[in-house]
Amino acid sequence: MNYAGVKDIGVAGKRVLVRVDFNVPLDKGQVTDDLRLRAALRTINYLRGARARVILLSHLGRPDGQVKPEFSLRPVQAALAALLDAPVAFVPDCVGSIVEQAVAELEESQVLLLENLRFHPEEEKNNPEFAALLARLGDVYVNDAFGCAHRAHASTQALPQCMPVVAAGFLMEKELHFLGQSLQEPQRPFTAVLGGAKISGKIDVIQNLFDRVDNILIGGGMMYTFLKAQGYEIGASILEKDRVEMSQEILRQAQKRQVKLELPVDTLVAESLDATTVKICPVTEIPAGWFGVDIGPATIEHYGSIIRHSRTLLWNGPMGIFEKKQFASGTFAMAEAAAEMTAAGGISIIGGGDSAAAVLQSGQADRITHISTGGGASLEFLEGKKLPGVEALKRPW
Ligand code: ADP
Ligand code: MG
Repeated sequence: MNYAGVKDIGVAGKRVLVRVDFNVPLDKGQVTDDLRLRAALRTINYLRGARARVILLSHLGRPDGQVKPEFSLRPVQAALAALLDAPVAFVPDCVGSIVEQAVAELEESQVLLLENLRFHPEEEKNNPEFAALLARLGDVYVNDAFGCAHRAHASTQALPQCMPVVAAGFLMEKELHFLGQSLQEPQRPFTAVLGGAKISGKIDVIQNLFDRVDNILIGGGMMYTFLKAQGYEIGASILEKDRVEMSQEILRQAQKRQVKLELPVDTLVAESLDATTVKICPVTEIPAGWFGVDIGPATIEHYGSIIRHSRTLLWNGPMGIFEKKQFASGTFAMAEAAAEMTAAGGISIIGGGDSAAAVLQSGQADRITHISTGGGASLEFLEGKKLPGVEALKRPW
């Protein structure tokens, strides 16, 4: 691909504007989950080691273009300093004279965190004048915020367009490698596991994968619409009535393109979504009024075996309502199978915010090749869409 990585550009002594995704959860002025901070450490540490002056840009939450103290990035200052084991300076705005002064005082290898970009409405409007004000702060631009790359905002699109030197950070490169190249030229068999709540949320992912995968394993809420399309009764399970026809079309397409598309043979059902007990039943015998909440043990066995025999695995969408532990066994079993195929030399890639959370909860995260930090961005990428933040890094060299 025609973009540079951070190692390909000169940064020594330069003022490097780094777009990071520090959209972290806060509670009473404390960062409650620092996963996104840790994900950016490699790029920040590299730049410090290379004697760059590091200027960090991020948004946090949805302040809607106004200064709202509860969305301040100030709590990130201390959390990041602790992770870097180095001081982090903070300035309570992201453009203007106080920021320019703080940047001018910044020495080599020092880190400056700017206030929430979205305190200015121009950020989300992709405003070029605002981008020009940001551009004055740096010599070089690095984007390491894959999770924001699907947004055409000033810091992700207009800004890199007006910078002379742009590059992808390590996290951005890793995401593009695993969600991009490794799925374009997969080692086979290549299996996609697709679940989540709805077919409508995944249809573009399915379409985009059809030409590349060998197997598609269906689970999650969408399985019941597929089952309905096969003429089965699905009780009170989630159903997208307007997608029954679409699911039939997907089954026909799979056959035509010689993709093995598997549907569950059994399911866990519950009398209500608050029930603490479940019942196993074949998909042909879902009782009236009961809710399908997970895939069943025979399906776990069958899907697990296909996964363990695969060389490349892409998983998007939990197999059941994993947020409740009584409905999480199918999802956790898939995580386990993914970990096993990875240990055997395969490549496992997880996309989607809820899927990533599920794999973390399963305790298998360390045994997976790549868990995307991207959420919505990873989905759009898997749908085959061009991400504005990625496109803006490309240069015709
Ligand atoms: P991701 O964020 O990984 O792309 P989705 O947002 O598409 O995943 O789907 C995740 C949601 O799907 C979870 O909140 C989960 O509870 C829900 N889900 C999974 N199985 C079912 C089911 N059988 N019925 C209703 N919702 C389900
Ligand atoms: Mg989701």
